[in-house]
Amino acid sequence: MKAAVLRRPYALTVEDVPRSMVRPGYVVVNVKATAVCGTDVAIYNGKISVPRLPVIQGHESTGRIVEVGPDVADFKVGDRVVLNSLIFCRHCAYCYAGKVNLCPNGGLMGREMDGAFAEYVAVPDCNCIKIPDSISYEDGTSLIALATVFRSHEKINITPGDTVAVIGQGAAGLLQTRLSVISGADPVFAVTRSRWKLDIAEKFGARIISAGEVDPVSAVKEATGGLGVDLAIESVGSSATLRQAMDMVRLGGTVLLFGIAPAGMDNFNGYAMYFKEIKIIGSKGMVPKDFHMAIKAVESGKIDLHTLITHRFDLDHVKDALDWVDKRPGDGLRVVVNI
Ligand SMILES: [Zn+2]
Ligand SMILES: [Zn+2]
Repeated sequence: MKAAVLRRPYALTVEDVPRSMVRPGYVVVNVKATAVCGTDVAIYNGKISVPRLPVIQGHESTGRIVEVGPDVADFKVGDRVVLNSLIFCRHCAYCYAGKVNLCPNGGLMGREMDGAFAEYVAVPDCNCIKIPDSISYEDGTSLIALATVFRSHEKINITPGDTVAVIGQGAAGLLQTRLSVISGADPVFAVTRSRWKLDIAEKFGARIISAGEVDPVSAVKEATGGLGVDLAIESVGSSATLRQAMDMVRLGGTVLLFGIAPAGMDNFNGYAMYFKEIKIIGSKGMVPKDFHMAIKAVESGKIDLHTLITHRFDLDHVKDALDWVDKRPGDGLRVVVNI
């Protein structure tokens, strides 16, 4: 089968490799679409170190089951599925508690184990979630991003009428914006410099703040009568935007640190944390339940994933896709590789 193999940073080639084999408890999926996410790019350019190389990259995928291993009861050949790329052990304290996203014995496809920029991938059956015919394979790749957004929202409990600001309107930021709107937050401020992303955020029901034209903190304060928002969602992962989030949240408010931030953050405002009694929340990955919530929201028409796809490549051009996102981060939204 064809697969995109990374041997060292930037050295990725599409090669012929042995086809993924089925084994007990596993299914083999004929991959149809895999999106490029920031984590893939960070693995590709070496910012995130990988425990073993070579590795087949790719982890935000949909496809069709073509082989079912012994002991698999709930799937059959032909099922259309989205893959939960966080592999978990099912037998540790976190897995028993349902927090499989925190399992220390698993890993991420395309990092700890082979991924899905490939024609086929073998995955545990519990990492497959069926998707309805109404969701295309391409659009379905964004269910993974949406599932992570649902995971984070379980921790922040938006009450109708809460005021929310979402800093950063990449694909995940836009999904944060939309989920906040349909959860009843009002208003939801969408903050970014990018005009075309603000246009999408506005269609998603947000009040827009153009960070290139005004100071987002002052704009949010002014629009909330000087109070600040109940919840600020940081969806960039930078020191500057974390600072903005802490500055624009009201006393006793919550900051959701959703963008994947670097190990060290400058500008952390310890005084604000203390004097404003800010709660800072982290959120990692997703659990199977989040996929069901995500699929329901898309099926009902409340969330539009199709708008998020801005660029398409094929399997022979995975390197071009990764290079494009590496060189022009933020210029597109979802970049999908059709396989
Ligand atoms: Zn990802
Ligand atoms: Zn576990």
